[in-house]
Amino acid sequence: MLESSEPARRRGDSTATLTHLHGLLEVARLVGREADLDKVLATVARAVSETLGFATVVVNLYRPETDEYEVRTVHGSDAASELLLGQVTTGESWSGLLDPVFRRRGAYFVPAGAFDWETDIKSYAPPIRLVPDAPDDAWHADDAMFIPLDGPGGRRYGIISVDEPNSRRRPDDQQLDVLNAVAAHATLAIESAFQVAALETAVARHEAVIEASLDGMLAIDASLNVIEFNPAAERTLGFRRDDVIGTDVVDVLVLPDRRENSRRVLAECITDPGADILGRHVETFAIRADGTPLPIEISLTRVQRSPEDAPVLYAFVRDISERRRSQDQLTYLAYHDSLTGLPNRSQIERHLELALARAQRNGHAVALMFADLDDFKLVNDRLGHASGDRLLAAVAERLRGKLRATDVLGRHGGDEFLVLLTDLTGDPISKAETVASELIGVLREPFVVGSSEVRIGASIGISMYPQDAADTEALLRHADVAMYQAKSNGGGRFAFHEHSNTLRARRASLTAQLRRALAENEFVLHYQPVWNLTHAGGLAGMEALVRWQHPELGLLMPGSFIDAAEESSMGDELADWVAHALCSQAAEWQRSGLRPILSLNASPQQLRAPDFAERLLREISRDGLDPNNFVVELTESAWTIDALGTLAAIESLRSAGVRLAIDDFGAGYSSLARLRQLHFDGLKVDRELLRDVPTDPTAVAVMRAVLDLARACGATTVVEGVETEHQRKFLIAHGVELAQGFHLARPQPVAEATRLLERFLISARRDTPLRLLAS
Ligand code: C2E
Ligand code: MG
Ligand code: MG
Repeated sequence: MLESSEPARRRGDSTATLTHLHGLLEVARLVGREADLDKVLATVARAVSETLGFATVVVNLYRPETDEYEVRTVHGSDAASELLLGQVTTGESWSGLLDPVFRRRGAYFVPAGAFDWETDIKSYAPPIRLVPDAPDDAWHADDAMFIPLDGPGGRRYGIISVDEPNSRRRPDDQQLDVLNAVAAHATLAIESAFQVAALETAVARHEAVIEASLDGMLAIDASLNVIEFNPAAERTLGFRRDDVIGTDVVDVLVLPDRRENSRRVLAECITDPGADILGRHVETFAIRADGTPLPIEISLTRVQRSPEDAPVLYAFVRDISERRRSQDQLTYLAYHDSLTGLPNRSQIERHLELALARAQRNGHAVALMFADLDDFKLVNDRLGHASGDRLLAAVAERLRGKLRATDVLGRHGGDEFLVLLTDLTGDPISKAETVASELIGVLREPFVVGSSEVRIGASIGISMYPQDAADTEALLRHADVAMYQAKSNGGGRFAFHEHSNTLRARRASLTAQLRRALAENEFVLHYQPVWNLTHAGGLAGMEALVRWQHPELGLLMPGSFIDAAEESSMGDELADWVAHALCSQAAEWQRSGLRPILSLNASPQQLRAPDFAERLLREISRDGLDPNNFVVELTESAWTIDALGTLAAIESLRSAGVRLAIDDFGAGYSSLARLRQLHFDGLKVDRELLRDVPTDPTAVAVMRAVLDLARACGATTVVEGVETEHQRKFLIAHGVELAQGFHLARPQPVAEATRLLERFLISARRDTPLRLLAS
């Protein structure tokens, strides 16, 4: 006997409808206005009772935490209120009653007889008053009706249950519709009450947190004005809230040199919720009220309640000066020796690593010294540790006084010190020598410790980069070994690592000999022709190669002396000699009508000498020669060095008209991209690349690739080291125009070179001197 199958349906009269609507309106009005939930619910209950004529209306609120319904409002007799208010039912006790079969127009009508209230629904027991012989459409005493208050997404807020209609009739569709509408408003009211309560709690919590926060918090509006400034921010930054509210945050709190950047970052955070910096902890500086900078950690949060609202940035600011201090302290302790304040061993190693990396780049040398005090133990034993400590501090001070600002002095431990001389140029070994003997000298002077005068000395072991080793560990080891060597030789002296030691001895005598050789005019230039391989044939130019006519050893090739010359001060003098000899020769040839293209070799070291280019250009112009007829050959390493001096030299040579060629191309590992950038005019392919051509297919492939590359660069290409007829043919077949090699012509003394020029020189056209090379 379900209500929905009931055929007869009465319509309420117009007065009843109006009453319904009034009730509904009242509820609706109230929902928007009244914040107190219980008041809203009481109005809802009254409206339901009055519009529908039910004597009792009960509103149950759902508590999700416990899955219980609690009676919050009872409209009806005081007796019913007394009985029901606060009563609790479980979610489960409603499941039978809220069965879909009872549902009609949003309400559940449970007709009499559907349940045995006594046994089936124990926890919900409406007071039963039987009315005997009631008609079918009358409200039966154990009829029951419920309207669930369901929020969005099926969220349950509660249930309204009604009983005993004053009309004594079962509700019709219209009544049910109104009931449903009232329930919807009630739901809204409950929902917003919940939200307000939740919001209030959240806001209260939020405010409490901000107020009590140890972190400074400030809020900034979209035009970067401060709109909130909490007490912790006042404490941290020293400003009073009232003084900063409404001011531009960047002007007030950001260091002048960071303002522009900060403004940009903040503006980005305002406009872009996905801005990178939002939510991250960033270390920076703020200005305090007294104008001093304060290291802070800051994190930014962006809040925008709705798309229509302007976004607000919250900045949380923490003073990290204490943290910074202790970090600095820790770093300092980790890397410094507490007694002398000098860098400790690990810090020296870091310095050494950096110095080595730098030296590798710029071709400089590095010296590492290991100094050990002689007789320190005696002092310690005799005068006690405290005096020993004082002595060590004094030693550190004296050593420091003898070093350049760029040298690094550290304490290795005990009575051992480390000295690092970096960026050594010229003659690094003798520089290290000088410093070592000065250090030993200064420690030889007596020290006054307390009331006693103390004499100690020191032994120093020295290892050198690149002469002895290329890595930190090996250099330290070598210096250590050398130090023991110095000690076993009696102490109070220095010793080089074995290797640099022999080098030093050899080089010392070589330098002296080179000096003498220059004075005695023992150097000569030989000239190796550059041949044009095309059928036009002929001699395209000459490369000047230096030789040393040694009185006892005979003719020496540059390989045996040029490095030594360059490591000493003789390098520049030799270069000057070569430039001078070549230009004099060129002038002489010019007088007899020969104007060959002449190349000379310059090492990276020479190129770095500040006035290399000027000196060469002076030589060229003195004899009225054409700079266009000169080519300076530089090895790849010279091109890849980033030293400003090198680039400047290259630039001034080029602008004077001197041609520049890369020598020994393919022997190094320079970056091709970088070579390309440097705009050289010529490229000389290293003879190593030709050695196995044409027999070895790999060598052939490599050579082809290099030739392609050279062509792509648009540089005039000379292939060096042609030793066989096969090689010559190979080059001709591959379109190579210019070559050098023993098979074509060996380096020649002047007389032979002159004869070759007279016979084979392709007549020079002054306007296109370099094309001549390739013509
Ligand atoms: P480089 O500039 O590549 O000079 C070519 C070297 O290859 C010369 O050796 C030359 O004799 C040799 N050579 C030429 N054709 C052949 C060949 O077919 N087979 C073989 N195996 N070797 C060949 P040299 O004269 O001993 O010069 C060696 C290096 O010394 C030169 O290489 C150059 O880098 C340097 N050098 C020579 N003269 C000077 C100079 O005046 N100043 C500077 N800074 N360096 C120079
Ligand atoms: Mg050369
Ligand atoms: Mg070469």
